[in-house]
Amino acid sequence: MLAISVDGLNPEALTTLGRDGTPTFWRLIDEGSATLNARSAYELTITLPNHAGMLSGRPVSGDAGTSVTFNDDTGGTLAATHGAYVPGLFDIAHDHDVSTALLAEKDKFAFLVRSWDRNHGAADMTGADDGRDKLDVAEIAPADELVDDVTDTLTSGDARLVFWHIAAPDAAGHAAGWLGPEYLAAVGDADEQIGSVLDALDADPALAARTTVLLTADHGGPRGAEQHDDATRLANYRIPFIAWGRGVRAGGDLYALNPDRADPGTSRPDYTGTQPIRNMDLADVALGLLGLPAVPGAATSALPPVILH
Ligand SMILES: [Zn+2]
Repeated sequence: MLAISVDGLNPEALTTLGRDGTPTFWRLIDEGSATLNARSAYELTITLPNHAGMLSGRPVSGDAGTSVTFNDDTGGTLAATHGAYVPGLFDIAHDHDVSTALLAEKDKFAFLVRSWDRNHGAADMTGADDGRDKLDVAEIAPADELVDDVTDTLTSGDARLVFWHIAAPDAAGHAAGWLGPEYLAAVGDADEQIGSVLDALDADPALAARTTVLLTADHGGPRGAEQHDDATRLANYRIPFIAWGRGVRAGGDLYALNPDRADPGTSRPDYTGTQPIRNMDLADVALGLLGLPAVPGAATSALPPVILH
């Protein structure tokens, strides 16, 4: 299982660049099931709250949220922030003896790594004791190192559940605005990075046969502007959600495959009523495809699981 978050990926970049400019993204879409109209968290379109959501299946607010409203490493933990332990997909996987890895480009991910480390992770009450450290591999490093290490982690079998954060589009968006030439070039770079890992899968048919790739984003970003923190703007809250590989139908539309979810059009649904597909679905979709139970306490657990095939 390889879960990928492309920081600041506005899906308009994929339709603008097309299959010639982003062949890897489009390979995943064409050979898998996808929507370019998924949603971020309702409350916030910034990086750390949305990654806390992806990894825990929780929104931001309330008892069933993460309470992560900030966007930098506070030096604290999810448990201290929320006032109660916040389990995530790494808890469920690791406690079931599935090895785990988180490889990210931004320093702020140290907040999430710390939250589930040997000092702060919950005791394993499931079967054999796999320990409190929910991450077998945790690395924060530049993109070129991560491409190699994600590839090595998958091909070596060091982790069966790998989460990979790619920062290039967000960095270019902040430097030069979203959907301009620099941003589109960075989305092309992300496409090449992911393509490099897919090349390694293609070269190892046994690994490819047991691997699912999930890909989403924490938030988008508005054309020409250098910020993405207005959670009421379509350009910020609309993101892609792509699934590919083992267990995933080819050429599927995730809304057509999941009648318990509703395509939100251009709207910004809150957490009442029929839900869109959100980036926070990543946690339970990943666990479901690994044959594992959902994250307890997650808001999305009350919803039907996203059925991929
Ligand atoms: Zn971000």
